[in-house]
Amino acid sequence: MPKTEADSARIAALRTRLLNWYARNRRDLPWRQSAAPYAIWVSEIMLQQTRVAVVIERYQAFMARFPTLLSLALAPEQDVLALWSGLGYYRRARMLHKAAQFVAENLGGNLPTSAGQLRTLPGIGVYTAAAIASIAHGEPVAVVDGNVERVLCRFAGWSASSGKSGGAAALRRKIENLAAKLLAPSRPGDFNQAMMELGALVCTPRNPLCADCPFAAECKTRGEHKTPRRAKMTSRAVAYALVVRMKPAASRRHSICGVRQVLLEQRSEYQSVMPGLWELPQLRSAEVPPTDLRMTLRHAIMQVNYYARIRDVAENELASLTASGGKRRWVSLTEASGMALTSLARKALTRAHLLTPPLPDPPPKL
Ligand code: SF4
Repeated sequence: MPKTEADSARIAALRTRLLNWYARNRRDLPWRQSAAPYAIWVSEIMLQQTRVAVVIERYQAFMARFPTLLSLALAPEQDVLALWSGLGYYRRARMLHKAAQFVAENLGGNLPTSAGQLRTLPGIGVYTAAAIASIAHGEPVAVVDGNVERVLCRFAGWSASSGKSGGAAALRRKIENLAAKLLAPSRPGDFNQAMMELGALVCTPRNPLCADCPFAAECKTRGEHKTPRRAKMTSRAVAYALVVRMKPAASRRHSICGVRQVLLEQRSEYQSVMPGLWELPQLRSAEVPPTDLRMTLRHAIMQVNYYARIRDVAENELASLTASGGKRRWVSLTEASGMALTSLARKALTRAHLLTPPLPDPPPKL
């Protein structure tokens, strides 16, 4: 058989094995129950940098509140951020919201159908555009996310050093070319989802399950191999004030206990890494005397581990201990739980037994 024909037959067999494996093993995830481009878009944005188990519950709540692109476009940004709580990387929510408003105002509420047009919207990059276009519209474009990249590098036997001569960009191009070559043109959406699922369930970062892999017969490594090193985390100390007061109840019925309120602060992009979200007021100094320390929390954002010291502060100490600049509000604990809080503020208030912890994430169905 000529080389090209042999290649074509090999690739066709790989596609069939992968799609059959996917049909047997695909997880029953909530966003897979809809082929609507809007639903796929929301899920793909949420799944960037967030674990599937965390996304499942948040996705359902988000879609219940914003079931259509128009409902999202018309919502105030604070409502969108509140529903994004727990997913982190809030810039994604802001861009999603902006893009929905753009589509509602300029495109009659209809998302573009091709990957090329989708990429012109705020927050939609190459990966997300390919995912929406292939899954919702059957456009034959390959998706390359972190999972697919790992599968293909192992499959082809490429390590980080393979890209050295031309740099990481050359390796990336090789991966994209291979993904495009393997893509099943008649079922691009299923193929892309199958590749991502294979990376998530079988060709996992550690201890890949090669015995269960539909690519095993052709795989060059059949196991772990050198992959690009992750950027090193750095540490930063920060400190926040936990300020709680009892507001006398307006009605006699509640006059004995009153209403507990907490002081929250909303800071601008020049003052905070989480602009627009509600945080605890920041202390002037990250040094907190051990006797005043309520708790220490570790919280990772991008490549930084924040070690946040939380200190109980009385109202009359606010001016001397806290940094000024943000917009502050006293809010009841009930109101606070529904606000767009930073994950760190939510964590601190929960650990201080002021907010109820969210329900544990249900395990993904296998
Ligand atoms: S055989 Fe193993 S290393 Fe190769 S692609 Fe499959 S799971 Fe990954």
